[in-house]
Order: sequence, then C-alpha cells, then structure tokens
Amino acid sequence: MPEQYIQVAIPVPMRQLFTYRVPETLSSPAIKVGERVAVSFGPRKVIGIVIDAQAQCDFEVSKVKDITTRLNDNFNLSQSLVSFLQLCAHYYHHPFGDVFQQALPILLRKIENITLSPPMVWQAQCPRDDTNIILDKLKKKAAKQFALYQIISSHHGISWVELRTLGYSKTQLNALQSKGLIIEKEQLAEQYTWQEDTLNQADRLVLSSEQAIIVSAINHSLAQFSCHLIDGVTGSGKTEVYLQAMEEVLANNQQVLVIVPEIGLTPQTLNRFEQRFNVPIALHHSGLNDKERLATWLSAQQGSAAIVIGTRSAVFTPLHRLGLIIIDEEHDSSLKQQDSFRYHCRDMAILRARQLNIPIVLGTATPSFESLQNALSGKYSYHQLVNRAGKSNKAKIALIDMNQQQVEFGLSGTLKQEMKQTLARGEQVLLFLNRRGYAPAINCQECHWLAECQRCDKPYTLHQKQQLLICHHCGSQKRIPPQCPSCGSIRIAPLGQGTEQLESRLEDLFPESSIVRIDRDSTRKKGELTKLLQEVSDKKHQLLVGTQMLAKGHHFPDVTLVAVLDVDGALFSFDFRASEQMAQLLIQVAGRAGRASKPGKVLVQSSFVDHPLLQDLVHNGYHHFAHQALTERQQARLPPYTFQALLRADANYPSYPEKFLRALTLQSLDGCEFAGPVPAAMEKKAGKFRYHLIIQATSRKVLHRGILQLLAQIPDNEWLGKVRWSLDIDPIDLNW
Ligand code: ADP
Ligand code: ZN
Ligand code: ZN
Repeated sequence: MPEQYIQVAIPVPMRQLFTYRVPETLSSPAIKVGERVAVSFGPRKVIGIVIDAQAQCDFEVSKVKDITTRLNDNFNLSQSLVSFLQLCAHYYHHPFGDVFQQALPILLRKIENITLSPPMVWQAQCPRDDTNIILDKLKKKAAKQFALYQIISSHHGISWVELRTLGYSKTQLNALQSKGLIIEKEQLAEQYTWQEDTLNQADRLVLSSEQAIIVSAINHSLAQFSCHLIDGVTGSGKTEVYLQAMEEVLANNQQVLVIVPEIGLTPQTLNRFEQRFNVPIALHHSGLNDKERLATWLSAQQGSAAIVIGTRSAVFTPLHRLGLIIIDEEHDSSLKQQDSFRYHCRDMAILRARQLNIPIVLGTATPSFESLQNALSGKYSYHQLVNRAGKSNKAKIALIDMNQQQVEFGLSGTLKQEMKQTLARGEQVLLFLNRRGYAPAINCQECHWLAECQRCDKPYTLHQKQQLLICHHCGSQKRIPPQCPSCGSIRIAPLGQGTEQLESRLEDLFPESSIVRIDRDSTRKKGELTKLLQEVSDKKHQLLVGTQMLAKGHHFPDVTLVAVLDVDGALFSFDFRASEQMAQLLIQVAGRAGRASKPGKVLVQSSFVDHPLLQDLVHNGYHHFAHQALTERQQARLPPYTFQALLRADANYPSYPEKFLRALTLQSLDGCEFAGPVPAAMEKKAGKFRYHLIIQATSRKVLHRGILQLLAQIPDNEWLGKVRWSLDIDPIDLNW
C-alpha cells in the first residue's frame, strides 16, 4: 500500500500547513478533511486539523513524522467550515493554524479527552389540582419566579444557560422545582423541526408596509446569496423585521445565526426571540464557561439548535443547515477583533453567506460608511425604515455652547436645569462621559508636575475608590504620591473629570436621586452588567452615568433626557474615521431617549458648537452628514473608495520599527501606494516604540497581490529579529 500523507493546520505563528504521515495502524476508517489529530511539533504535542487528506509529500520522506493519534470524537469540522476558515485566513493573510485555533472552542484545542454531560433542559410539570393556586400566590408574592415559570412553560425545554442569560438565578429555579412546578430533563440530540406551536402568534405584530416590504424582499431571496442593509432609526422596528424574516427559514427547518455586538445586549435580544419562538436557542458569548461554549458548538453543528445568538466569534460556529445570518448594529466597532487575528465579523459573515448561498441582513440606525456605500452603489439591497414604530417620537438633539455657560463639575447651567425638571417629572436621566476613573490626570498645583506612566509617556488616570493611579494604556498601577516628587509640595490635585468623579459630584448635587454608574470598572464582575441594567429598568435609579458601553442598543424607556458631556475630543482627531464614529455615537446615544410614548431630549455640550461636523449632524441628521462625508472620502481617495492595510511594528528601541518598515517601502508594490512609515498615535506604549505603514490600493485584488509581494520580502528584512510586526487588513483604527 502506498504511504498516506496529510496536510495539517497547527497552532503556530507560521503561514503554512504541515505534512504528516498516517501510519497504517491509524489509516482506517479513511481520514477526512476537518478531523482533529494529535501530532508532535518540535518538543510539543499539539492538536492539528486535517486540511488535505490526500497530500503529496514534497519533502524527504524520512523527515516526515507520523501523526500520533486520531481524536475520533464528535467534534470534527465539516468540509464547509474548513473551507470557510481557509477563506478567512487568505483574506487576512493570517497564519492558518492561528485562524483555526481562534475559531474553535478552547476545549477543542486541547489534547485531553472531552466528556460533555448530556444537555439538560427545564420543563413545566403537568398541571395538578393545586397548580393554579400556587401560581396565583407566586404572581402576587414572587413576580420574578412567576415570570420564570411562564417562560419555562411556554417552551418544550429551555436550558439553564438561556435562563441565566435572561437574568434568572439558580435560587429562583430551585424554588420552582421544590414547589413541583418544573423538572429538569435530558435534551434529545435530535434535529430541530418546525411544529404547530413553534411560533407564538399572540406576540407577533402587524407589520407596517415599510417593514412588510423588507420581510418579503428577504424571503424572496432565501436560497441565494443577497445582502440586505436595514437602515432604520432606533425603535423603527428592525428587530420585528428580523423575527418575521426568520419565520420562513425556521419553517424550512433551517437555522438562523444572529450576531449582536455586546454581551450586554444578549438578554434583551434573547428575550424577544424566546417570546416569539418556541425553539432551542444556543448562546455564544463571554459569559459561558468552556463546556457551555462547546455545548453550543455541538448543538449548532448537530442541528438541534434552531437559532444561535452570539457575539463576534459566533461567526465561526459550525451550523449544519444555516439558512440566514443577521448582524445587528453592523456599524459597531466591537465587531472587529483588534488583536492577533484581526478579522471583521460582518465582513466574514458576508463571506460565509456567499459561500453557503444564503441571505444576510445587516441592521443599524447609523450604517458604517462601508455598508452605506455598498448599499448606495447597489451592491446591497438597501432598505430604510424612516418612522419609529409604535407611538414614540424621535428625540431632538440640541447643542449647548460651553463658552456661554456657568460650568460646575462639567455640567452646564442649562443641563442642570433640564436634569432637575426631568427628575421632578419622575423620569430618568442618562449622562454620557467617555472617560472612566475619577480624573484623567493628577498634577502638582505649584510646579505643574504631571504623574505620567514611564512606559507610555501618558498621564495616569486617578481611581479614587481604589486609591490608585492606573495607566489606561498599559494597565500599570502606582500609589498616589503624598507629595510632589518634583518640588515637594503637597498640593497635588486631580485634573479633569471621569465617570467616578461625576458620580460622586452628582450625589451631592442631587441627594434625593439614586445614581448608578455603568462602565468597565463598575461591571467587571460577571453578571453585574445584567444586574445594573435590570435595576435601571426597574426604576431603582434615576440618574445614569456611563461610558460608551451605555450607548449600545439598550432600551431605557423611561430615560427622557440624555446628555453628552464632552464631545470635543472626537472633533479634532487625525484618524479620518473619528468623525464617523463620533456621529454614530451621538445618534446611538440619542436613540436611548424617549423610546416609549414619552418624548426624549438630547443635549450635547461642546466648546466648539460652530464646528461644521456638529452643525451638519444636529441640523441635517446622520444621513446628510454621511453623504457629505462620503463625498469627501471619495475626493481624498480614502476608504470605502480605496482599500487599505496597516502594517504595525514595535520594538524596545526607538529606531528599529521605523527602519524595518522603511526597508519594506524600498521596493514598490504593483498598483499600491505607501503612506508612512509614521509614528503611531501613541508612539510609546508599555515600553515599546511603535510605527506603522499604510498600504493602499484602488481595488481589493490589487491590494491583496501587493500584500503577498510585501510578505514575501519580510523574511529578508535585516531588522526582522528586532521588531514585532502585525498586519491589519481593512484597519478601522489608525489611532493606535
Ligand atoms: P429596533 O429594533 O429598530 O430598535 P424594535 O423592533 O425593537 O425596533 O421596535 C421598537 C418598538 O416598536 C418595540 O416596542 C416593538 O414592539 C414596536 N414595534 C415594532 N414593529 C411594530 C409594528 N409593526 N407595529 C407596532 N409596534 C411595533
Ligand atoms: Zn510640584
Ligand atoms: Zn502605561
């Protein structure tokens, strides 16, 4: 029998596959693409994925090693997923092995045997004589338990992960169990099929004609690739469109993948989906442990989950019969991974939809310029929802000129007045300040010495509660010095204001109101964000202080006043995307106000109210602003009219990264232009010196070819051993 060789993707930072031999003892049954095998690589033993099961051996045969074992479990990758991951690796010029590594649940990257206990679900018990009496009591005395019972009883079976993500606790679950209302059962691993009671008709809304047109456009293109951009203000009924577009897909016994940018959004989205469809829903987000993640992966792959809802990396979930992909908040920058494998989830989802010949729906109130341009040029089907659904009115945005105001703790007189009135009406106020911590710097009031992080040359942020100085760039920490190290004065004071300080000032200014702060510091604990958001919707707090975390998609029906305390930073950035992001943020923040029948108001404080960007946005709205800005981008030959890649380099010594990059610009690349090398916005971070080079072309194909040429030169670069480098295709953050 001839020797059998295979090509394997291995988690090492090399842009190649590796050849191994399959010994005869392991050759039956025939090895398949997507199988997981254990191989030795140098001194290590690692998991590899078979990419080519019948490879030629281009090496000296005696040097090729045998694979060690075949994993032989349930967790092999399908041919289709392998091809998709290969496409991703090609698109980003990223090492294969690393792409596979990052796309797989952690447990599948380990050699150890995996034992998953069978998936369990909760079900309602058959009603007994006293069931109604118990439920009546619960309804009055334990509303949360009652709500939990209702969710469970409206499903054939619902998992603990789903219930936990919806905000319920083990205690509530145990209470219902001990009352004999619910039981836990093993979930059958059979394929989901549509049934009579899969759709909750009572929950379904009658679509407006605008909405109905979109649903039918999506449903008309079910068995082919098409990309739909739904551009609709917050509250215009996009989610309702998703839900109704999904009906036909689920009725065909196909699966739907829904991607949301933030874990914090999952409970709300999940709640709507749970109420509408009585189907198994699998979740994929950072709140799951390794086994739970793998369970999601498996139920998606086997087809027992009808819907998968997840964050960014859910785009790599294997789905046996995927029929539709939905990306909510497609403009959101958290859809792009900003380290190692720098992929954009939206772009990869489009690639996947194309590969599988299925439709994909992108929804947002503030389309990214990339998507808007694709929609305007006819590449995507463009759908606009211009009216808010239901009764709510659109919030009005007004500018406050800080040069004309008495300002106290960053709050203008006008804003304070509005806050008082809103609180007096019993409504909630949201203050938005994109700076966490107590103060962005501390300095000496006598000699103006500034406490700076030595590793980044940037001011330390003061965290008063922890009594620490923390560098927000590298994370290093320091005690607050008792006196100025430069002149010895003890007059050391905070400079500027962060959310922590704002919170404590508001406690003095509004002693009657309860204040909640929502930022990365206050939500570090698992489950804390869900808890705080629940408290807000229960109206336990009247004043909300938060960073951009709060701008994303949350529904706050009783918030009728939203204020952006300081918008000026974004007006003067050298990154051409900063104005796009500022505009999206403002409109998203505005979308939080007045969702219910109460009208909302948005106040934006600025010292530059005449700035044309602000004026255009406030008076003419996002779309006018976006069209204007797109014209400017076209004239300046910037994305989305051109295509970019960013080559980053850093080193311990200042001149190395620049020399490394400059050497690469000596040879021109066909059809591509270079910009740089230039120092990064933060030239020094965590002790490293940083430079970047932009490579730009007028077509993706030309850029791709140029990058291949460039990568081929890197091994010969004389500075290679002295720098760390990485490549970012379609970078969205030039301000690193
Ligand atoms: P979006 O996803 O665009 O923010 P939603 O789908 O959440 O909008 O809808 C906003 C509100 O309007 C929700 O309370 C929803 O129930 C309601 N709504 C949506 N579509 C309709 C409709 N066709 N008729 C009545 N109410 C609707
Ligand atoms: Zn001093
Ligand atoms: Zn630092």
